[in-house]
Amino acid sequence: MILTRKLQLKIIDVKNWSFLNELNNNVFKAYNDVVNTHYFSTLFKDRIALTDEEINSKTIKINKKLNNNKEKIKESKDDKEKIETLKKTQQKLYNTLRILNREVRDKAEEFFTTSDKNFGYQMLSRKFPEIPSTIRTCINADVYANFTKEINDIRSGKRAVRTYRKGVPIPFQLDKSKEIFVNKNDKIVFRWIKDIDFEIIFGRDKSSRQSEVEKIISGDYKMSDSKLQIKNRKIYLLLALNQPEDKLQLDKNVTIGVDLGIVFPAYVSTNSGIQHQRIGSIDDLFKLRMQIQKRRRRLQRDIKSTHGGKGRTKKLKALERLRQKERNYVRTYNHFVSKEIVTFAIQNKAATIIMEDLSGFGKNKEKGDIVLRNWSYFELQSMVEYKAKLKGIEVKKVDPKYSSQICSVCGEKGKRESQKDFLCFNKKCENFGKKILADYNAAWNIAKGGIKI
Ligand SMILES: [Zn+2]
Repeated sequence: MILTRKLQLKIIDVKNWSFLNELNNNVFKAYNDVVNTHYFSTLFKDRIALTDEEINSKTIKINKKLNNNKEKIKESKDDKEKIETLKKTQQKLYNTLRILNREVRDKAEEFFTTSDKNFGYQMLSRKFPEIPSTIRTCINADVYANFTKEINDIRSGKRAVRTYRKGVPIPFQLDKSKEIFVNKNDKIVFRWIKDIDFEIIFGRDKSSRQSEVEKIISGDYKMSDSKLQIKNRKIYLLLALNQPEDKLQLDKNVTIGVDLGIVFPAYVSTNSGIQHQRIGSIDDLFKLRMQIQKRRRRLQRDIKSTHGGKGRTKKLKALERLRQKERNYVRTYNHFVSKEIVTFAIQNKAATIIMEDLSGFGKNKEKGDIVLRNWSYFELQSMVEYKAKLKGIEVKKVDPKYSSQICSVCGEKGKRESQKDFLCFNKKCENFGKKILADYNAAWNIAKGGIKI
């Protein structure tokens, strides 16, 4: 699977700016020139086909025959033998057309003394010698691939010929025998063409993005055709990662239920109910979050009473940092919880993870408010989905309505007596008279696929 990541870069030696600026001023022009070259060549070939009398008359004849043939196929309806013969003739006619096209192409190449693809490269090296050759090669290949795909739509008026503007991502390929990412004093440096070094700014998703780049360094991931973009004096690396999809041996009969809990962030159980465990502690999350929120509120009040000046700017910056921290903390925590859920599924060879469908969460009084306010469940769910997919595990969603109300052993209606405990009232059930961990009961029910009463 190929994933693309947009990473902001910081140029280390500012002297390189002039080279990058010039490059950025040239790349989009080079793109346009190659596109126009191809379009011109297409029109030129059309002209040969029309002006060369022999080729032109042959083409007209064949097209007529092809049309006749198509009519005959329509008329033959159920006569299979006849249709088959007609289709054979059709194939032959198409072949003759192809030969004629080749003749046209040969004539054009004779005139230009080279092929379109070669000419594109030749033109680039003569017109844009200052663009490094690896970039020229990539631009040429890029345009060629797009143009051959799009030419039929261009001819039929479904789309226009592409035009490229300044800021178009710059394609490149790096020498794979050289080090591309280098660890320097705890910072990851990206070494580009001409040994231009950039520091990678990982930003909000620091931990996950950084670990992805580290996996390229360790060889677990491969870097695919990536691009560099310079826009509004900012530089971005559009990094394409080739992430190997793990082929795990999964058992279709095993499913995992995930209860997004009140007592625990998540509780997981297999559909047999034998393997089950809690994941994380919601206390950690709450305590830290409350702490940050408290500090943030104090600071907000403080800012209201401070008017203007350096002090206010400083405080506003501190507030932004706190907000960031609040966001990131939940995110980091969600990464941890989602990873544990997927790990539990892998350990049990589960082919499916079942989660609660949270779109109806507002109606669920039991779990409603506090949970939604304090947890970004949707983020957690999407993380589980993303991580499970990488392992070939399917994620399904079920209505959470009943999962906490019925007994996971006998299927009868019971009661969530408190946040923590579930009670079964069925005298014949082995759960009768016991306090069952409510989250476990719900997770098991969910694992069984969302049971309705
Ligand atoms: Zn029961």
